[in-house]
Amino acid sequence: MLEDKNTQKTSLAELGEFGLINHITKYFKVANSSTIKAVGDDAAVLDASEQQTLVTTDLLIEGVHFDLSYMPLKHLGYKAVMVNLSDVYAMNGVAEQITVSIAVSNRFPLEAIEELYAGIQLACETYNVDLIGGDTTSSTKGILISVTAIGKVDKGEAVYRNTAKETDLIVVSGDLGAAYLGLQVLEREKQVFKVDPNNQPDLDNYTYLIERQLKPEARKDVAGLLKELDVKPTSMIDVSDGLSSELFHICTQSKVGCKIYEEKLPFDPQVISTCEEFELDSTMVALSGGEDYELLFTVPIADFDKIKGNPHFSIIGHITAENQGLQLVTRANQEIELKAQGWNSLQKD
Ligand code: ADP
Ligand code: MG
Repeated sequence: MLEDKNTQKTSLAELGEFGLINHITKYFKVANSSTIKAVGDDAAVLDASEQQTLVTTDLLIEGVHFDLSYMPLKHLGYKAVMVNLSDVYAMNGVAEQITVSIAVSNRFPLEAIEELYAGIQLACETYNVDLIGGDTTSSTKGILISVTAIGKVDKGEAVYRNTAKETDLIVVSGDLGAAYLGLQVLEREKQVFKVDPNNQPDLDNYTYLIERQLKPEARKDVAGLLKELDVKPTSMIDVSDGLSSELFHICTQSKVGCKIYEEKLPFDPQVISTCEEFELDSTMVALSGGEDYELLFTVPIADFDKIKGNPHFSIIGHITAENQGLQLVTRANQEIELKAQGWNSLQKD
């Protein structure tokens, strides 16, 4: 960590654009029958089928969305794919293809791009998606990566943000806040490293947090878990900007309010201990941290018994009437109005 592991350097100029594209795409194998033609022609060809198509894009820019001093390129490639797959899963769909466009300055050798694509390939293989194209260009400074994911959902099965109903239960998968704390730990170590490059950090107490920040996993499994329980979510969104921001999206678009309970929020023990160390409030971190890539969804209250006690899911509250607003019930049983804050607002504090 925190050091340049690229010992070999092959210049991108030497390879040329087509050489580079060929080099970075040749080990990718097609896994989905809907991929008729992947990389190599003017456009990819996909089988349209009877289902509906989902399309989502995210753009990541060095210095804005990631910092290469603690984000290894392989992890960056993996995470760039995850943030897109997460959006497809949040629609109750299955992701099948991605395109990847990159702009790189010649400060990066070929070996760096290979690392990036090793992460992209690992994500493709693990999540069964095909790389079907992209674009490659130069930048004057830094690296930029844009991923588009394409997925499928059966007609009538897409789950939107604007369909939560009063009395529905609010459920979240996994746990919250770890990725934000992972970033805080990495930022702190970066500062320590700047002062003393020989100081190798001891990160044993933060392994889960750092993994959640550097190698998040999109919740491909949730759709299947819910199907097994015979539960269809009434609305769904992925937690990318923090729980508070996502609740706002669901409530505003569905024209409802919500009540969530502080004591019900799911935390990993490392989140609790690191919050104490950093003097942060774990509830604030869950509400405003972001990058958890868990799924937040609502289900009819009649499904309470099917969800209750399931280790993958936590029931954190319920939907109320619009005029009730968005309320957090604290451990002291006080009601506090939620503010729509995302990731950025907490960072500025
Ligand atoms: P064009 O000149 O038609 O834009 P390119 O030479 O840019 O074609 O791309 C050739 C093929 O390689 C296309 O299939 C394109 O989608 C794919 N491709 C280009 N850049 C990338 C990349 N960074 N990652 C994956 N595929 C890429
Ligand atoms: Mg092109």
